[in-house]
Amino acid sequence: MRRQLIAGNWKMNCLSASARELASSLAEKVSNGGPGACDWAVCPPSALLPIVAEALGGSVIALGAQDCHAEMSGAHTGDTSAELLKDLGCRYVIVGHSERRADDGESDNEVKAKAEAALKASLTPIICVGETREQRDGGTALQVVEGQLHGSLPDSDEIVVAYEPVWAIGTGLTATPSDVAEVHSVIHKLLCELRGVEAAKQINILYGGSVKPGNAAELLAVPHVGGALVGGASLNADDFFAIGVNAAKRD
Ligand code: PEP
Repeated sequence: MRRQLIAGNWKMNCLSASARELASSLAEKVSNGGPGACDWAVCPPSALLPIVAEALGGSVIALGAQDCHAEMSGAHTGDTSAELLKDLGCRYVIVGHSERRADDGESDNEVKAKAEAALKASLTPIICVGETREQRDGGTALQVVEGQLHGSLPDSDEIVVAYEPVWAIGTGLTATPSDVAEVHSVIHKLLCELRGVEAAKQINILYGGSVKPGNAAELLAVPHVGGALVGGASLNADDFFAIGVNAAKRD
């Protein structure tokens, strides 16, 4: 397994001053804590990318975005191209987050097209999948996740996958380590089939859903967990850093 990736999804939070402060404070903590054993990324709202890029300065923390359009340019009012994200200094872009799948009706096909656009612009897509509460209670979580992966994955090894059970996002509820282990092992197996065993070993599979400093060690120690996608707790530099320290311990 490669180094774990700890990625923060700031969602639609922060204004310019608070974004600058959060990014600088995190950059300072990461640099004072030494290089560490994990990779770091923060994904602020698109409009804040230049401010956050500047505040991160020469930090090892990578910049990411929360969405991109499937086209590189054109008549798509309000959207942002992967090429522009790259131009603004991004390394990653989240695609298929459950909030976009739910709020904007994004289908697996659209998520795949966005991931392909990201790759074309030399960005690494963080492709999100995960079941709803009803699907888990109905016993179909694994089939749902497998179906989303079959529909959303581009033909590339340069990807990150994030397993985010919808019911665990922003709720304070987390999947149990044994449920996480089961889903991550199914995802890893599918990646082995689709991409080959060696390539699959290099693909980080993040867990996301109410990851906090208090549960990070347990979740990050689960087999095939290649890091965390963190929402709420990434808005606090101390908490986000504390989550990454747990990743470092595991390596
Ligand atoms: C997310 O938005 O991807 C997420 C995991 O949020 P939270 O950590 O707040 O549950």
